[in-house]
Amino acid sequence: VQTKLPAVGTTIFTVMSALAAERNAVNLGQGFPDFDCDPKLTGEVTRAMTAGLNQYPPMPGIAALRTAISAKIGALYGHDYSASDEITITAGATQAIITAVLAIVRPGDEVIVLEPCYDSYVPNIELAGGRVVRVPLTPGTFRPDFDRIAAAMGPRTRAIIINTPHNPSATVWTEAEMRKLEELLAPTDVFLISDEVYEHMVYDGQAHQSAARFPGLAARSFIVSSFGKTYHVTGWKVGYVAAPAPLTAEFRKVHQFNVFTVNTPMQHALAAYMADPAPYLELPAFYQRKRDLFAEGLATTRFRLLPSAGTYFQCVDISELSDLSEAEFCLWLTREIGVAAIPLSAFYGDGFDQRVVRFCFAKKDETLHSALARLAKI
Ligand code: PMP
Ligand code: GLN
Repeated sequence: VQTKLPAVGTTIFTVMSALAAERNAVNLGQGFPDFDCDPKLTGEVTRAMTAGLNQYPPMPGIAALRTAISAKIGALYGHDYSASDEITITAGATQAIITAVLAIVRPGDEVIVLEPCYDSYVPNIELAGGRVVRVPLTPGTFRPDFDRIAAAMGPRTRAIIINTPHNPSATVWTEAEMRKLEELLAPTDVFLISDEVYEHMVYDGQAHQSAARFPGLAARSFIVSSFGKTYHVTGWKVGYVAAPAPLTAEFRKVHQFNVFTVNTPMQHALAAYMADPAPYLELPAFYQRKRDLFAEGLATTRFRLLPSAGTYFQCVDISELSDLSEAEFCLWLTREIGVAAIPLSAFYGDGFDQRVVRFCFAKKDETLHSALARLAKI
């Protein structure tokens, strides 16, 4: 068959989760919680379903949820999005990102991605007929290198995709870095796709720097988030895009023909649940404790910890432990030690190997203890 994505196989997350299940390993690979969401939230779903809210919602999502999102963004980031014309509910962040890409990227357009990057971005750009321009984040620190980004920009640059807090490196962009990006894009028509799915997982008193806080960025941005991360419901696949009205209009042209709309009862449940800000305001403390518990356990091993400023990921350097490549090390760790991890090389187009692997700490304490007990034996 003539394929459209010849280089693409099964995602690393699927591969590692399958191997973890086969080997009965503790799965710290694919990013998802192994604990349940708040029963209040599932209660709201039952309530919506039994109230007969089971038919198609409006194409952009139910008004109550769009209004709740608009109010939240206004309160947290100070930007006023119109609930009717500037917020669209999506089937997770994944559909939000590909829909934004398909809405703006024309054949031959260039799109800048900062590597390591989430695995869907590059195939999304290729499916749109765009050309991927890869710019590395600074090796070692994973900070954006604005000289390299500026050098990669040209007349064909249509968009740039950023992600903060960052999967897989667990770095968080600073206000100064967002301002730098704002300045860099100011003289251009380049669109920004800002993947902010980990917006509520920022630690040590730092603040999430949403593109919505920066007028020069907000005006050109598709800001993407996901309820899966914030409310421990990755399997629900509900997210959203906030974008200025003209961009939202283009987004919805594609959205209406790739999913049309997103399931009704979950939207009602989320709208009701969002009335209380406590769950997302308490999330940093909740995950920071898990991050610290996991890091303390790893301190006695020969894994060298990289900083985890946000997300629910902890990266570690394996060079003192092993001569294997990252990918081989993760296979070995899963099969022989019984703990699954993700190699950072999976987030680079050329498989760049810097001897770093990613663990997910969105797990029950007992799961983290059992993983640590196994890792201590290496
Ligand atoms: N972007 C990033 C950076 C992610 O880590 C994820 C979750 N794996 C997604 C997008 C996709 O989110 P969703 O599950 O809501 O589609
Ligand atoms: N975002 C999750 C991760 O990085 C995985 C999502 C997926 O399986 N596609 O682990």
